[in-house]
Amino acid sequence: MKFATRCVHPPRSDDPHGATAPPLYQTATFRQPTATEFGEYDYSRSGNPTRAALEAQLAALDGGLFACAFSSGMAALAAVINLVPAGGRIVAGDDLYGGTVRLLAHAAKARGVSVVYADAADPAAFAAATPGPDALWLVETPTNPWLRIADLRGLAAAGRAAGAILAVDNSLLSPVLQRPLALGSSLVVQSATKFLGGHSDLTGGAVVTDDPGLHERIAFLQNAEGAGLAPFESWLLLRGLKTLAVRVKAQQRAAQAVAEFLAGHPSVRGVNYPGLPGHPARALHFSQADGAGAVLSFTTGDAEFSRRVVEGCRLFSIAVSFGSVHSVITLPGRMSHASIPEALRDRLAPPPDLIRLSVGLEAPDELLEDLARALDAADRPVAIAAPRDSVAASHSSESRIPNLESRTDPPATPPSSPGDLS
Ligand code: PLP
Repeated sequence: MKFATRCVHPPRSDDPHGATAPPLYQTATFRQPTATEFGEYDYSRSGNPTRAALEAQLAALDGGLFACAFSSGMAALAAVINLVPAGGRIVAGDDLYGGTVRLLAHAAKARGVSVVYADAADPAAFAAATPGPDALWLVETPTNPWLRIADLRGLAAAGRAAGAILAVDNSLLSPVLQRPLALGSSLVVQSATKFLGGHSDLTGGAVVTDDPGLHERIAFLQNAEGAGLAPFESWLLLRGLKTLAVRVKAQQRAAQAVAEFLAGHPSVRGVNYPGLPGHPARALHFSQADGAGAVLSFTTGDAEFSRRVVEGCRLFSIAVSFGSVHSVITLPGRMSHASIPEALRDRLAPPPDLIRLSVGLEAPDELLEDLARALDAADRPVAIAAPRDSVAASHSSESRIPNLESRTDPPATPPSSPGDLS
């Protein structure tokens, strides 16, 4: 089956009633035949038919044999990082999502795992940073937010030679555009919160592999730590996957138009998008991926100007994350990547003028108009003094709601009320 067909026809359809949409088994427990015999399912943390249907489809989409669905992309990454025993080493690409960098710092401190960062375009640098066995190599490509490209085939070959497990976080492209297992990686990690779900209405994650031994270890952690995706989110994600191919391709077409528009704009200093002819690793990218995706970033050379552009947009919402049907705009240095620990900030943090866009399914010409107007208004600060709508205002730098996404350390004292956590 071709990819678009696989999106619509999940591989597992063993519903006894022939339901055409996957049923939601919103149950924690399953009655067993006798006190000594067990059926396929007993407890939803360990396994649930809705999650099993999802996992079969996630595996099929990424071209793997096995998948485990998790409650978030971070839970999926935590399981992968937990594969590394104390004394082992993680070599990570040097342009990762801030939350991943935070988790790696935590693993290093709490579990005696050593973490080093290397250029993911340079497999030899990864090999040189790997002194012995028990190593995990973890990369994103294209990276977020710089859209740098890792050499997946080169890393897979060098990783095999070094005895390292190569895990690729594929959240930025999704399996529509890139399937790292076919390029030799051992594990694929997805934040299903992004393109896989696609509607900003769930958080989820997945680890996909075709290695039975690795799958067994990940599935053990999924059950033992209890971070498996709940039935309702699994069902929602199954629904989102049906339109994955069509969404990503339409979003990508609009992103290409946005990138070309920005590249020609006099207030824009540089645009990072592998779909542009000037991208330094465009050839490498298209040797391992089928498209440039729907996320891009650009700089203006002036942090205040960039802030005004972000706050001046109307169709692009100011919100963390990417991959949804609606377009979002962020300042990664202040938002998604603000969680990079202080000690690593000089090396890894995006500059304050870098703006990241995730392009959605709005009419592309209206997105261009929105950006053109915001860029124009940013040259005339007075023109954007009027307050944004209430959603945008709640994300402004003056917001008094604590930004948990950017927190690097646990709070010193528990929040005073549950409302603080919302
Ligand atoms: N991987 C990447 C590349 C991300 O950008 C993110 C979140 O933004 C994650 C993983 C974490 O996923 P989640 O937010 O679903 O936990």
